[in-house]
Amino acid sequence: METVSDYFGSMVFNDRVMKAMLSSKVYASLRKTIDEGVALDPSVADAVAQAMKDWALSKGATHFTHWFQPLTGITAEKHDSFISPSPDGGVIMEFSGKELIQGEPDASSFPSGGLRATFEARGYTAWDPTSYAFIKGKTLCIPTAFCSYGGHALDKKTPLLRSMEALNKQALRILRLFGNTTATNVKSSVGPEQEYFLITKEMYDQRPDLRFCGRTLFGAKPPKGQEMDDHYFGAIKPRVAAYMEELNKELWKLGILAKTEHNEVAPAQHELAPIYTTTNVATDHNQLMMEIMQKIAEKHGLVCLIHEKPFAGVNGSGKHNNWSIATNEGQNLLSPGETPYENAQFLLFLCAVIKAVDDYQDLLRISVATAGNDHRLGANEAPPAVISMFLGDELNAVLEAIETDTPYKGAQKTQMKLGVDVLPKFNRDTTDRNRTSPFAFTGNKFEFRMLGSSNSIACANIMLNAAVAESLKVFADKLEGAADFESALHEMIKQTIKDHKRIIFNGNGYDDAWIKEATEVRGLLNYRTTADCMPHLLDKKNVDMLIGHKVFTLDELRSRRDIMLENYCKTVTIEANTMVDMAKTAIAPAISEFTADVAANANTKIALDPQIACAYETDIVRKLSAITDRVYAGVAELQDTLMALHDAKDIIAESEMIRDMVLPKMCELRVACDEAETMTAKEYWPFPTYADILFSVR
Ligand code: ADP
Ligand code: MG
Repeated sequence: METVSDYFGSMVFNDRVMKAMLSSKVYASLRKTIDEGVALDPSVADAVAQAMKDWALSKGATHFTHWFQPLTGITAEKHDSFISPSPDGGVIMEFSGKELIQGEPDASSFPSGGLRATFEARGYTAWDPTSYAFIKGKTLCIPTAFCSYGGHALDKKTPLLRSMEALNKQALRILRLFGNTTATNVKSSVGPEQEYFLITKEMYDQRPDLRFCGRTLFGAKPPKGQEMDDHYFGAIKPRVAAYMEELNKELWKLGILAKTEHNEVAPAQHELAPIYTTTNVATDHNQLMMEIMQKIAEKHGLVCLIHEKPFAGVNGSGKHNNWSIATNEGQNLLSPGETPYENAQFLLFLCAVIKAVDDYQDLLRISVATAGNDHRLGANEAPPAVISMFLGDELNAVLEAIETDTPYKGAQKTQMKLGVDVLPKFNRDTTDRNRTSPFAFTGNKFEFRMLGSSNSIACANIMLNAAVAESLKVFADKLEGAADFESALHEMIKQTIKDHKRIIFNGNGYDDAWIKEATEVRGLLNYRTTADCMPHLLDKKNVDMLIGHKVFTLDELRSRRDIMLENYCKTVTIEANTMVDMAKTAIAPAISEFTADVAANANTKIALDPQIACAYETDIVRKLSAITDRVYAGVAELQDTLMALHDAKDIIAESEMIRDMVLPKMCELRVACDEAETMTAKEYWPFPTYADILFSVR
């Protein structure tokens, strides 16, 4: 029987294949490029391309593509076949180093936010040798970055790679200060836990809102939701199990370390988590994973919903970004160590993250902002839109002891003096799993929980890497010039705790009292919507930091802000139009028909005996008639607000109108329709209900 190890990574041009297929000289040169970012020799590129092609052909591939991540949020590919005419009238299969390294997709229809005029259609893709090529279907996919000819990034990978480089540079400076002379590279790693819903294709097909928007725009709450908590970690249904089995196999073939799978809180909700890996590879894998999850679902007569909030009143779907930084020698810099020196270094990196999250709350919020995720952040089950950090009791006690110069209350009751060898070894706290914190320390990594299920993880990690690089830079600048390293280190950690402790919160993040305290007492930011936060991408402190670390240029930041706001406006506008259509052509007529039939029934009864009261019929006819009028008016008002959008003077004004006028009108219309749904006989209702959809997979 075929075992997992037989096919794991079988569709990946990975290290094992490279070693087997490349000469030792070419392999060594490529390895140096992968590990240390050394530019690749053109002759090496030709040899690699040759081997890649031979390998791909042996797997049945006929085409190749430069696979990239434009700002649309999904991945893009343009396939070219390997064939090239031969003089004898036949074909030979060709693939050159040049084709491997650089491609020129017609980029004119990808969003660029004004970076590249449409007439200047050419952008180029550049091979990212740090992420392995793979085969999907019959195509060899080469992970690439996507830039304009002016050198501006048009994708998510380029700034991600730049942010990793910034973090690497600053982290190495710190390590040198601690006497580490051997580490040559520091990289961030990520393990993203992915939530999703699985429903039947049959239900999906009957809901225009799901088809056009990925989420339901109408739907009364089902009689049974997640109140019973009986779905979470519950037994997986056979149909879902079959889906997961095939999904795992496909992911494993692509070298994606799919590891944990379980049911989530809501009915029909599940989670899939891979084992963590280098951030840019994890990002590529997560994009691939989302794509394959949807493709495999189709084969099983199912639809995989990756939207953040497919069902109102039911848990939404997020993505937990487990993030850490480690040296090429395998030292996790966010793991408390064995010796006082290691622990001092750990505390410094910890403080760098604390400072980063506090100083750049806005960038982290921006990095997860989409119309879809706005429905989730701040709702009951998701982390709030206010960013805070959870550290756990043990670490908290350590920080408090340092800040106040008081003995640490841990096992040893020692004064916390850093750098010198009295710093005690402390136990890391992994027991308390605070699930309500947007940014939680979990023993040797941080879990950033605000990401929406459909977000590319690139955005969050760009900001996280860059912000931490900035903290490390500030620290290194100070410490490198210090006369006495140890006392300077101690002072700096102490001061950082003092300055940034407001961001640390270990209580219940879902509590309303916390939001009040966070905003009114601590002065933390609370950007509830994409329209609120996105303009702050261009705040001076953010621009200075991101440009300073060469993560973005000013033009790239401007274009990204515009693209993100355009996305927000477009998404909501499509939803509003879908609502108008559903309400006008299906819901209102259905209510009216039912009302008319009920009224007719009453007439029939009264004709039989005028004394019959017809309380039900009278009540229903009155109430539903009133609701029908509300629906009718609601549709008209929503259409008016959509018309008004044309007068918006710019994209910021438009996004504010979306937030202040369109979304509230959508809400009103929905309330009326949902109310009608609970009063209308089921056979009249034009769409499957929440109960039909959520319990459709058996
Ligand atoms: P939980 O659901 O309890 O948060 P999971 O085991 O589902 O935990 O997910 C934890 C994720 O964190 C996994 O993807 C795991 O590989 C990842 N992870 C573990 N250690 C690290 C680390 N040092 N850096 C980044 N991610 C990590
Ligand atoms: Mg988790």
